[in-house]
Amino acid sequence: MRIVILRLGHRIQRDQRITTHVALTARAMGAEGMLLDSDDSGIEKSLVDAGARWGGSFYVKRITSWKNEVKKWKEAGGKVIHLTMYGINLPDAIPEISTDAIMIIVGAEKVPPELYGLADWNVAVGNQPHSEVAALAITLDRLQAASGNDALRTHFPDAKCEINPQKAGKEVIDTALTGKL
Ligand code: SAM
Repeated sequence: MRIVILRLGHRIQRDQRITTHVALTARAMGAEGMLLDSDDSGIEKSLVDAGARWGGSFYVKRITSWKNEVKKWKEAGGKVIHLTMYGINLPDAIPEISTDAIMIIVGAEKVPPELYGLADWNVAVGNQPHSEVAALAITLDRLQAASGNDALRTHFPDAKCEINPQKAGKEVIDTALTGKL
C-alpha cells in the first residue's frame, strides 16, 4: 500500500521538532514520504541525513497548496484520512478503509474547516486530544496490520547502518564493513 503523509499548519519556530518526529515515524513505519505545507527546509535536511545512514527513499516535499495536493491525490484514485480527535474512532473506521493509496493528514495548529469535508475519512485515535506523532504511529500500525504487514518490521535493504537488537546494550552494524544485507 502506498502511504503519504500531509503535514498541515507547521510553524517554523514552534513545530520543527515535532514535525521531524512525524516524518521519522512515518519513515520508520512504512510511509513513502511526507508533504510539508511550509517552506521550512530543515525537516527535509534531517530526513535526508537519516536516510543516508539508515536507508530507504523517504522524501519530504515542501508544498504551497495542500488543497491542490489533496485534489491531485484523489484524482489519481487515492483516498484521504484526516486524523482528528473529533472523527470516527480508528477501530470503528478501519474496516471501512480499503485502498492501495492513502494520504494521511495531520495538523499542528487548528486545521482549515473544509478539510473535514474533503477527507474520505475523519479518523480519531481515541476521542481525546493528544499528539500527532502518537496518532500517526497507531494509525500506521493498524492500517499496515489490516493489510497483513507489520509496520514495526519495516526494513531498508540499502541501509549503511543496521541495529542488531540486544537484550542489553547497543550494537550497530556497519553494513559496508560486514557485507551483510
Ligand atoms: N490545538 C489544535 C487544535 O485546536 O485543533 C490541535 C493540536 S493537535 C496536537 C495536532 C494534531 O494532532 C491534530 O491536527 C491531529 O491531526 C492530531 N491529533 C491529536 N489528537 C488526536 C486524536 N485523538 N486522534 C487523531 N488525531 C489526533
